[in-house]
Amino acid sequence: MSILVVGSVAFDTLETPSGKRERVLGGAATHFALAASFFTDVRVVGVVGDDFLPEHEAVLTSKGIDTTGIEHVPGKSFHWTGSYVKDLNAAETLATDLNVFAAFEPKIPESYLDTEYLFLANIDPVLQSRVRSHMPNAKLVAGDTMNYWISAHRDNLLKVLRELDILVINDNEARMLSGETNSLRAARGVLALGPKSLVVKYAEYGSAAYFSADSFGDGLDRKQFRAPATPQEEVVDPTGAGDSFAGGFYGYIASRGAETQGKLTPEVFRKAMFYGCVLGSLSVEAFGTDRLQRTTRAEIDQRFEHLKEISHL
Ligand code: AMP
Repeated sequence: MSILVVGSVAFDTLETPSGKRERVLGGAATHFALAASFFTDVRVVGVVGDDFLPEHEAVLTSKGIDTTGIEHVPGKSFHWTGSYVKDLNAAETLATDLNVFAAFEPKIPESYLDTEYLFLANIDPVLQSRVRSHMPNAKLVAGDTMNYWISAHRDNLLKVLRELDILVINDNEARMLSGETNSLRAARGVLALGPKSLVVKYAEYGSAAYFSADSFGDGLDRKQFRAPATPQEEVVDPTGAGDSFAGGFYGYIASRGAETQGKLTPEVFRKAMFYGCVLGSLSVEAFGTDRLQRTTRAEIDQRFEHLKEISHL
């Protein structure tokens, strides 16, 4: 089973208490694709400029990621500048240079049309809807968003939410979307907006999954799951932790797709959340995508077992 992810492919300039890095490879689709590539085939739709060199593309293709859908256009790639110096848990955006991303019109290559699993990473909800409508045969559709779209493009975002099987967001976004401060009420409020299920990431406190009443009919209705986060002594760079979580989570679900015939079961969903935690925890141990680039599946499984062990009754 394969995944198509649409989202930003970027260069990030990052400052954290561990130091500063200029223009490292980043972007939501990049982090997601690398994390998911440990589990299944991944195809990327995005746009980059002339500064995106073969060596950058090789970071993805060396992991078997299909980059046919990354369009190269004249100009500079999307560049995000963020700081975590004040608070390691909250990115402060210092600059968002959209560059070629400003005129991004996602184009889905013919060879991607049979993709079963679609992930709409954090981009303009109008583009998320467009990609969704070009993939009518996708078995499962998941997505992410961020504060900017929640506050300034709410109506467009609400249309996307109604079409999602799984929405993966952080707790601040869940509170913003629902207008509720209590985490359970916030989750119920978000589900009332239409996604069949919701995964909320509570940073170092783990994650939770919530399901609507008529979600999947596979024993998941109204259930709730919790997964811890792996304890980290040193967080070097939190950028991409959320996307890596989503990549590990969705990658694992897709990897079980053939056997479950695309159905979500409680067992698959729970394990996927644990794999999401594992990939998120690995990604923060180095700047940008460095840690995921040198991760192995054996290391991922070892950390998964550790997480199981420390959270088992
Ligand atoms: P995360 O830390 O998982 O929430 O995502 C971080 C990634 O999102 C970075 O690599 C950025 O390049 C990317 N990013 C930041 N702002 C935006 C934006 N407005 N649209 C799309 N991607 C963004």
